[in-house]
Order: sequence, then structure tokens, then C-alpha cells
Amino acid sequence: MRGLMMDVPLLISSLIEHADIYHGETEIVSRTHDHHLHRTNYRAVHQRSRQLASALEKLGVEKGDRIATLAWNDFRHVEIYYAVSGMGAICHTLNPRLFAEQLVYIVNHAEDAWIFVDPMFLPLVAKLAGQFEKTRGFVVLTNADAMPEIPDCDQEVLCYEDVVASGGDYSWPRLEENTASSLCYTSGTTGNPKGVLYSHRSTVLHSYGVVSPDTLSISAHDTILPVVPMFHANAWGLPYAAPMCGTKLVMPGAKLDGPNLTELLENEKVTMTAGVPTVWLALLQHLRENEIRLPHLKKVVIGGSAAPRAMIEEFERDHEVEVLHAWGMTETSPLGTVGTTLPRHRDLETNDLLDIKTKQGRGIFGVEMRIVGDDGEERPRDGKAFGELQVRGPWCAAGYFKGEGGDVLDGDGWFATGDVATLDPDGYMQITDRSKDVIKSGGEWISSIDLENEVVAHPKVAEAAVIGVPHPKWDERPLLILVAADKDAPPQRDEILDYLKERIAKWQLPDDVVFVDELPHTATGKISKRTLREQFGDHQLPTPGD
Ligand code: AMP
Repeated sequence: MRGLMMDVPLLISSLIEHADIYHGETEIVSRTHDHHLHRTNYRAVHQRSRQLASALEKLGVEKGDRIATLAWNDFRHVEIYYAVSGMGAICHTLNPRLFAEQLVYIVNHAEDAWIFVDPMFLPLVAKLAGQFEKTRGFVVLTNADAMPEIPDCDQEVLCYEDVVASGGDYSWPRLEENTASSLCYTSGTTGNPKGVLYSHRSTVLHSYGVVSPDTLSISAHDTILPVVPMFHANAWGLPYAAPMCGTKLVMPGAKLDGPNLTELLENEKVTMTAGVPTVWLALLQHLRENEIRLPHLKKVVIGGSAAPRAMIEEFERDHEVEVLHAWGMTETSPLGTVGTTLPRHRDLETNDLLDIKTKQGRGIFGVEMRIVGDDGEERPRDGKAFGELQVRGPWCAAGYFKGEGGDVLDGDGWFATGDVATLDPDGYMQITDRSKDVIKSGGEWISSIDLENEVVAHPKVAEAAVIGVPHPKWDERPLLILVAADKDAPPQRDEILDYLKERIAKWQLPDDVVFVDELPHTATGKISKRTLREQFGDHQLPTPGD
């Protein structure tokens, strides 16, 4: 027997419509290129996104067309999110940090019809425009007075505010909820980048997951500053979750350094912020050096890479800010786990609590998880056994755009994440490594993440990475690559190794330490182990015969 409840589709347009009706005056504040603050609200953004949808129709955009953005976080980018998905087209966020060849590949693979471009990326676009096969034109995210000099290119170049002004009345169509809504390519460590194609249904369900109390717990009383870019897995869903709750949004634009973030966090009374660990390294350093406290900030979401224990401790101890360590991937929309605590953790000592918070957190309702061994058998949830992490749920990818990568689910519908993890009896998941980053030493696996976590807690270390390098006897041994906190007073090699000896098993101790000025990062802000392996893969360890 079927239930007798309404079959109302879950649509992205309903999020911004809800925000308009119930939280119309709630602000969206954006840092502009000229360091100004632009203020708008949900009512205006809803109105302008409908106007933009109407304008896009006039430009010939049809349902299913891919409309790309090459832009930082600001109100216009939010308007495009809603206009494009709301009208039934697909909002494709491009990552401006990608190499030019990757951008060309992705734009052509997605067959982007129009690209909305921040003025600062116009020179890049002009250089590549001739190679974009299906792109009809570009819309520059500014007003007529500020339109930059248009470089020579065969496609049309329009001004965003003119385009919006050309739109008329518009009502959101009632789409089928599984209609594709947005597209984001994964960095693709092997092979070409692959497109994850979200749907309206997956996006709305993910938003419910994001906002709930033991997940990120977002409400109308919060002010959120997403440092994570809108081109990195939809800024972790925050531009959808915020209007669902009527949460004020503070969009930082291009300037993500310590001083700029501090200014916004303070002046806009931000209560929650979210981003990858690299961003917080810079922010914490700035706060430390200038003895700044952030009285309004209550929560910081750290994900994308493992949050080092020392970073969690500094936020919680020095700033009384709760760290929510989260794990996810582009393929999981992205939220999969969040490190919220349980009632019985309330009275734990700081160190025991940090043990829990250093883990990546518990699976949120909507994402099933399991770990499996090489034999494909599920491994126990005992916090010790590790295996490849698999996920299943309504906001996890069932395949890639245009069938790239073939079938990605196993017979029971599980998606293999490529992460190696443990699951403890409470369901806390801990990533040991990406499967390709695990160091295989004499049949045992050494977790590069564990080592990095220990090393960055050393006061003289700013950032650290561990990779496996070939070893004649052990197959691979760990090599520690680090950036000194103070370049003029770097730590000694033995000082670091002695420090580690007290904290890890002897056989896990790195065989060598290399100092670098900076570590390479990927387009989404993770340390690029691939680049490090290329640079240091044939590094000669001091005692190769051991
Ligand atoms: P992306 O799709 O670019 O967001 O990358 C997803 C990958 O980032 C995951 O499969 C993990 O390897 C890594 N990742 C994300 N969050 C964390 C975390 N909290 N700790 C460790 N690795 C993470």
C-alpha cells in the first residue's frame, strides 16, 4: 500500500524561496575586489536570481545546459547557483586554481555554454577562450562602470549587471526532483578529472543533513563565513544550508589571508566558519602574533584534509572555539562525517577529548559507511582494523558525468572512497591515509597522516608532509618533508626525530627529514603528495641498507 502524502519535489529553488519569505531581511555580505563590503539580503538575492534565470532564457539557455562559474565566494555567485539550477540548467563550478590544460579539458568535457567570470580571471579566460569548443560567451561579474577592458576573443562578452537587468518576471519551474542541478569535477589524481553531477533531491537532502543539531547545527541565529570556495564541492553545501535556516552569510571573496579573515570574523560577528587546514594555519598564526581573540566565533569546521591535533587544541584552548572535524569528498556532496561528541564525553579530560576530535567523526544520518579488506570482506568496527572506506546514501555519487570511470558502485551499491580508515564501536571514523599515500614498510602500513599530525604539533614546525620512498629492504620508508615555523631558526633534524621518538613506535620513525620553504598544494588546498613524490621519490635515505 502506498502512503498518502504529497509528492512535492525537493527543489533547490525552494531553499531561496523559503529564505525570501521567512528571512528576507537576513544579510549576505560580500568582500568585493576593491576591498569594499557589499550588503544584500535573501529577498534581493531571490528576486535577482529569478531575474537572472529569465535573462538566461532570453540568451537561449535551456534545461540541462551547463553554465559555468569561475568565481570566488560572493553574492553574485550565490545568485548564479540559484538562477541556473532553479531554471533546470546545471551550474558547473570551475576551480580557477587548476592548470590551464585541465580547465580547457573540463570546460570542453562539460560543454559549458556560458561562463560567468570574476574580472580577475578574465585574462586567464581570454587566453583559453579559443580552445573552449562549445562556449558561446562569457559574463563578467561586475557592473557596467567597472567593466574591464575586454580582450580580443571570438565569443560574446557581457556584463553581469546588464544581463540581470535584461531579465523580467520569472516563476521557478516545478522540475522533477532528480533533475541534475550542478556539476563539480574532482581533482582526479589519476586520469582525467571526472564530473560529479548533483541533483536537486541530493542537494536538498544533503542540506537537511548539514544543518541538523549533531551535524553542523546551523540556525537563523548563526552567521557563517564559508572560507571553503564555492568551487570546492559547493562550499560544502553551505550556500544551500544557510538559506534553508535563514543564516546570515559572509562571503570573503578572493582574500583568504589571516588579516582579511580576522577583520570579517570580528566585524560581521561570525559564529561559524569552514575551510581546509591550510587556511587555519595562516589565521591562527595571525591571531597568535597579534594576540587577537575572536569573541563571537563559536565553531570552526575543518575538513578536506586531516585537521592536525595541535590545530584543534589551539582553537579550543586559546579561542574557546569548538572544532568540528569533518570528512567528505566531492562525490559525497560532500558531507559524510562530523566529529561531534556524545553525552558521555562531557567530562572527559582534554587529551582524551582531543583523541576523539582528531578522528574524522561519525557518519551522519544519510551516509552509511563500512570498511573492507583487500578480500572485499567487511572489517570489524573495533577502532583497530583498517580497510578501504565505502559509502552509500542518497547524496553519494552513483557514477560520473558522461559515464567516465565506468561503473563505480559494487553489486550492493557501495562506493569505494579510496580512503583507508578505521571505524570504532561508537562509529567514529579515522582516516589513516588515501590508499595511494599509505607507506608500506616490510608488510606493515604506516599512516602518513598520523606522522604529520605529530610533527605539526612541534612549535618549530609550520607544516609537514610524509611520503614513502623506495627502500631496498623494507619496500618503502617514510620521508618527512617540513616547513619551519621560523625560516631563520629551523629545528635540527635530530631534534625533530627525538621529539617523534617519544610519540610514535620506533619502526614508524621517518628515515630522513628534508626542509623546504613551502609545500606544494593542490587546487583544493590539500598538500600535493603527488608533486612531493615526483620531487623526492628518489631521495637517498641516509642508511639504505638498514
Ligand atoms: P575532494 O573530493 O577534493 O574534496 O577530496 C576528498 C578527499 O579529501 C577524501 O577522499 C579524503 O582523502 C580527503 N579528506 C577530506 N576530508 C578529510 C579529513 N577530515 N581528513 C582526512 N582526509 C580528508
